[in-house]
Amino acid sequence: MEKYQTETLAIHAGYNPKNGDPLVLPLNQSTTYKYDNARQVADWFDLKAGGHIYSRLSNPTVCALEDKLAALEGGVAAVCTSSGQSASMLAVLNIASAGDHIICAATIYGGTYNLFYYTMKKMGFSVTFVDLNAPIEELRKAVRKETKCVFAETLSNPQAIVLDIEKFARLAHEAGIPLIVDNTFATPYLCRPLEWGADIVTHSCTKYLDGHATSLGGVVVDGGKFNWKNGKFPELCEPDPSYHGTVYTEWFGAAAYAVKLRAQLIRDIGNYLAPMNAFLINLGTETLHLRMQRHSENALKLAQWLSGQEGTAWVRYPGLEDAEDHELAKKYLPKGCSGVFTAGIKGGRDGVERFMNALKLASIAVHVADLRTMVLHPASMTHRQLTDEQQKEAGITPDLIRISVGLENIDDIIADFEQALKAV
Ligand code: PLP
Repeated sequence: MEKYQTETLAIHAGYNPKNGDPLVLPLNQSTTYKYDNARQVADWFDLKAGGHIYSRLSNPTVCALEDKLAALEGGVAAVCTSSGQSASMLAVLNIASAGDHIICAATIYGGTYNLFYYTMKKMGFSVTFVDLNAPIEELRKAVRKETKCVFAETLSNPQAIVLDIEKFARLAHEAGIPLIVDNTFATPYLCRPLEWGADIVTHSCTKYLDGHATSLGGVVVDGGKFNWKNGKFPELCEPDPSYHGTVYTEWFGAAAYAVKLRAQLIRDIGNYLAPMNAFLINLGTETLHLRMQRHSENALKLAQWLSGQEGTAWVRYPGLEDAEDHELAKKYLPKGCSGVFTAGIKGGRDGVERFMNALKLASIAVHVADLRTMVLHPASMTHRQLTDEQQKEAGITPDLIRISVGLENIDDIIADFEQALKAV
């Protein structure tokens, strides 16, 4: 499928029906599989041949989605997980152990912040949050001997700040470690981080890939180019005692990272994607390209309109010409800047509340990246568990609302915001 463009891959990659097969990817709602030959199953358990053993490890519907997402991102393999949170955790756990250190962008989804700062801290990891806009000389100071990866989002949640992927890739590669990029908000239609030097890409498939708010899911895509044999990642290059001595880099070459993640972590932790969710996420992904075009167009128009309104204190969208990251947006996101942005509503927290309560078409929702327009107040919702100091570090001010612009007619969206701003 590699010769096809993104639009074609979104529809066709991952499933290649043969004569008489269903044209639509079938939902294989089965935990288990039947075999004629005991030796064949033993070979599959030994990872000597591909085949499905049990749906905690693989499933034909989920694997079709994995192949589609790997093709869309330009990676060599992908593993789907039960949520975006699982994808973020496994992407790091696959190459780091207790005592190791992670460098992470400070402007990041609140759930990822909590995962790295609290839960993974309990597991023995430490994390340094760095300013996305800091010069590389400053960022280098965060690197330690035990640092195992750099993690950041292409477009940060909630402010949609554009990551300078090449700068972060340089930081990681100078230290001999991979750059993991959460590409949830950009999607592979707007940006393919692997082409700019990232090594691993993750997604919350719950967002634009599904696009219809039906299914939780995540994915980790292996770029297949990182040199795991540089001495820093023995777990990938030495016999795995938990998998009778498998040496991932020797047996699986470019896909070593993805195979290890499935064979070891998904096997043990059990957070694989459910077939039904894969079926629905695949359906959503088939129209990803069309939706991302319209999300981006609508978001730009709404951001431009809001910028001139009395009730708004400020508007931040990388697609606006006066945005500080507009040049980065032109470089990394030439097709559009996706559908999420932030604005400040006058009157602080009370003004925000009056505005949100007055919305009629747009919903107050904790979700984002859906075809319905949604608004959220991060300080009291998604980032509520963070201290004031942590919120400040993540750029969350009390007047900030996150807008996820949907696919409704833009005039209707603007009319709704116009009437709601009158309540501020
Ligand atoms: N990454 C980003 C950028 C997100 O916005 C989210 C959720 O909002 C996640 C990861 C976590 O994904 P999930 O909710 O599917 O666990």
